[in-house]
Amino acid sequence: MSDQTETNEFAGEYAPRELSPVETLRHSFAHLLASAVADLYPGTRFGTGPHVEHGFYYDMQIPETVSVDDLPKIEEKMREIAKGNHKFERFLLERADALKWANEAAQPFKAEIIEGIPEGKISFYKHAGFTDMCAGPHVNYSSKLKHFKLTAVSGAYWRANDKNPQMTRIYGVAFETKDELEGHLKMLEEAAKRDHRKLGRELELFQITQEYGGGLVLWMPHGAFIRKQIEDFWRDEHLRRGYNFLFTPHVAPLTLWDRSGHNDHYRDSMYSPMDVEGQMYQLKPMNCPFHIGVFNNRQRSYRELPMRYAELGTVYRFERSGALHGLMRVRGFTQDDAHIFCSRDSLEEEINGCLDIAQTMYQTFGFPDYKVELSVRDSQNSKNFLGSDEIWDLAEGTLARVLEARGIPYTRMEGEAAFYGPKIDVKVIDAIGRIWQLTTVQLDFNLPDRFDLSYIGADNAHHRPIMVHRALLGSLERFFGILIEHYAGDFPVWLAPVQAKVLPLSEKFLDYGRDVVQTLRNAGLRAELDQSDEKLGYKVRRAEMEKVPYALVVGGREAETRSVGVRKRKDGDLGTLSLEAFIERLKGEDKGKVR
Ligand SMILES: [Zn+2]
Ligand SMILES: [Zn+2]
Repeated sequence: MSDQTETNEFAGEYAPRELSPVETLRHSFAHLLASAVADLYPGTRFGTGPHVEHGFYYDMQIPETVSVDDLPKIEEKMREIAKGNHKFERFLLERADALKWANEAAQPFKAEIIEGIPEGKISFYKHAGFTDMCAGPHVNYSSKLKHFKLTAVSGAYWRANDKNPQMTRIYGVAFETKDELEGHLKMLEEAAKRDHRKLGRELELFQITQEYGGGLVLWMPHGAFIRKQIEDFWRDEHLRRGYNFLFTPHVAPLTLWDRSGHNDHYRDSMYSPMDVEGQMYQLKPMNCPFHIGVFNNRQRSYRELPMRYAELGTVYRFERSGALHGLMRVRGFTQDDAHIFCSRDSLEEEINGCLDIAQTMYQTFGFPDYKVELSVRDSQNSKNFLGSDEIWDLAEGTLARVLEARGIPYTRMEGEAAFYGPKIDVKVIDAIGRIWQLTTVQLDFNLPDRFDLSYIGADNAHHRPIMVHRALLGSLERFFGILIEHYAGDFPVWLAPVQAKVLPLSEKFLDYGRDVVQTLRNAGLRAELDQSDEKLGYKVRRAEMEKVPYALVVGGREAETRSVGVRKRKDGDLGTLSLEAFIERLKGEDKGKVR
């Protein structure tokens, strides 16, 4: 299972496809963009221009350097063309004629695509004198293309392969109504302010540099502390729920990945193997085979089931450098992974337990709203799915029943199950309305067969356990990225790396400041002293910028009475509290995991 989902930009672009009305609209905007660029920059070579979530893009080789400063000009041209009310006209060409067109129009990327299409007629669309090879569909007339904005320019390799030429990718967003567009632009503005890469740098939470390798994360002290808090909470919750913790290696012989099937089905996401004394070893892309090894250590009995193994397991998966994005898409990440081995009888209880701990996570990390999807097999094509109808019916029925019993609304995704089992996905909604895939509870009828897992039942016979793969937060790296953006770096007290910053009025009160810091630390709280000789106003502003929840001002009066002048971030001055009273207050917030 993957929390880093790959979308194939080319899939369906030239084959007949079905697009929803808004997707059709967005895709049509890609053509409009291409026609505007063709007008403004003669000699542009066109790649592909799909619709994406909220909008569209087009990959092009433009003879001039185009930056965001050029976007208004291109937008202007797009509006001008759109207003002309041109019809999107479709026509078909034989493959040879299509190639001729591509060569005459000096469109080598289109020619390459045509060469990859096996046979048959090829579909084209034309509007305002601009021709593009495309399966469609599009809006009928360009005047329907109204509510859009070009948002970004970036580099992209042709066909996402860094051995291929660099293209310029221009992104836009587009909606059916003006209100939707404006709402979205407002959200983007807010998202830019919260960008975890920007906040990660400003708050010194993590770093990713070329020197240490793209997609590989160095957790800085404050980020590492937040991770520790997440991990501690995660471990406590698992202990309460009867999980056992595992630690497993980062590499294993290739033969293990042959047996698990990963070497066959997952190779594109794996790094090249390494030679260890003549045997090939593989960096792990998943933890599953290791947990299976622990289960298989000896013959298991039904009395030991269910087995719940959890590991914060670091895995490595190949991602193209162009696809890497801050903490959201990386090459090495730590899954909050668990595998449950259970009998059919206890499946319902186990799934219920997974959802219970998942909901505890959402609540604690401040995500009250989420969407749930239940992916089931395509019952018309059950031969494409491994295992009997009986086990699938049992599994799908159990997942649905648990969701219903917990009162969780869900969308049934017909035919979306993996070939080896159905699953539940949960996507949380963040503070600015964005949706993030977090949790997957995946049933697996494949690996127990491949590894010949069994337990002795009450009937003294061998039985195959059901295996459940389960990650609640997905990966700690990505989850941290989501948390940074969700809270805009303004972490609640229990997660804040520094909960209180002590600000002496002058250096005369440094000693008392140190005393306050140590007293807080002795109480299990996190405090730092501002030792600079800046003015108080400056120190207060700096603590605000560092997003420290409390600033404690200490001067002569405070030192005499063993008290602190309390300023809460955003709430302002709370007056003077005895040090003892402040500690009680902070401890309460820390333990209650409240903001
Ligand atoms: Zn098209
Ligand atoms: Zn797994």
